[in-house]
Amino acid sequence: MTEDRALEDKLALDPGDWDEFRAVARSAVDDATDRIRDLRDGPVWRPMTDDVRASFTGPIPTGPTALAEVYRQVATRVFPYAMGNVHPRFFAWYMGASDLSGALADFLAAVDGSNLGGGDTAASLVDHQVTRWVRDMMGFPDGASGALVSGGSMANIVGLTAARNAMAGIDLRQDGVAQLERPLAFYASDQVHSCHHKAMNLLGLGAKALRHVQTDAALRMDLRALQGAIDADRLSGMRPACVIATAGSTNTGSVDDLGAIADLCRREGIWMHVDGCIGALIAVAPKNAHLVAGMERADSLALDLHKWLHAPFDVGCILLRDRALHRATFAENAEYLQRATRGIAAAEFLHDYTLETTRGFRALKVWMMLQHHGVDTFGRLIDRNIAQARYLAEKIESSALLERTAPVATSIVCFRFNPGGLSEDGLREANTEILLRLQESGIAVLSDTTVRGRHCLRAAFCNHRTRTSDIDLLVQEVERFGTGVLRERPSLLE
Ligand SMILES: *Cc1c(COP(=O)(O)O)cnc(C)c1O
Repeated sequence: MTEDRALEDKLALDPGDWDEFRAVARSAVDDATDRIRDLRDGPVWRPMTDDVRASFTGPIPTGPTALAEVYRQVATRVFPYAMGNVHPRFFAWYMGASDLSGALADFLAAVDGSNLGGGDTAASLVDHQVTRWVRDMMGFPDGASGALVSGGSMANIVGLTAARNAMAGIDLRQDGVAQLERPLAFYASDQVHSCHHKAMNLLGLGAKALRHVQTDAALRMDLRALQGAIDADRLSGMRPACVIATAGSTNTGSVDDLGAIADLCRREGIWMHVDGCIGALIAVAPKNAHLVAGMERADSLALDLHKWLHAPFDVGCILLRDRALHRATFAENAEYLQRATRGIAAAEFLHDYTLETTRGFRALKVWMMLQHHGVDTFGRLIDRNIAQARYLAEKIESSALLERTAPVATSIVCFRFNPGGLSEDGLREANTEILLRLQESGIAVLSDTTVRGRHCLRAAFCNHRTRTSDIDLLVQEVERFGTGVLRERPSLLE
């Protein structure tokens, strides 16, 4: 090794010119601040030009490019074509609207650089503190455990894995699903999120092991049907293992009767898992917390902090009532990852609570955001989003051109343009066209869905920037585009 020091440093990744880095970083922060300040004046989303698309097809760069030039590409080719969920008139699917203090935290987390898989670091204490805060927000007991994961899908998988192992009746970790004496059955409503199908796949139980229980008029799990399915499965030699209750369904925002499901699970000796990816955080909203009462009785609860807490993607959380069982589901004992009584390895390994080994410092954005804004602010924002959904529902009720297609339980409104005289196919065509024109014009972004066989538009309120005037504009534009579509395509009315 004869390289001299200057040459050695030159190959390292640190800036060759520290002041140059500082200048680029400062202008990036300035641009980001302006961008969020002026969001409302721009389109929610815009289609990419062919030139922009083509600009992402170049080969791998072999040599260096100045950071200022790389940043310029982000500013001109990436940022203008973002999803738009940060915009106040983004109502599609279900996701948070991000936040500058959270964005700053992601930068700082990367600078800290800690691997949250384990180690005695302040970062791991931040992670522990955040899961305790979430536990307290959800009303789970002191002994409960939690883990921050990539999102709701992973949180559900972690919870359902613990449920499967706890209910297996064998040492499932050692012996595997092939040794199950009786096949396990899981239960969820027909509104359950599709990530649970992925979970069944991964857990080796198969999609058929997830029983889809019918829902009532309010799209809540029908508890008589649930009881019937459990009884039938017991008779046929299956082991009813877990009820997955939904607190805020993705389709319509409906909330299962969590208290009654908790009673049933206790009576039947079945694990209760709550998918609270949308609704769990309603627990901190003073006017609406009653909607999710009973959730705190679950054995496991999955929730998303990148939805109603608006943490930048991605971060979700799983809570388990039984810490020892949580650990027993995932903890490994590799010779190269041993705990010590002193030094950097003298701490609990957080990877013992999830499927991941290396874990990013996701906790920091939640920690900084909860301190900076305070949990009361989030509670009030959630109450406001729910009030906004009700406001939109009222506007739909009083419009001769619009029709609501599902009850509004929380923060999602399903509706369609229906002035009368259109067939179901005609309604689908007209509403799809409205949806696309709204998106392409940059005025608003909705998504669509099908509720009880009826295709419709869907507006989800999970945005801290939305104002009443945005909802007024949305209604006005849906009516205007709808009327325009009918004028252009009179055959829809025949
Ligand atoms: C969003 C959502 C999920 C999935 O969460 P991700 O964070 O997208 O992985 C699961 N269940 C429900 C009810 C959801 O709304």
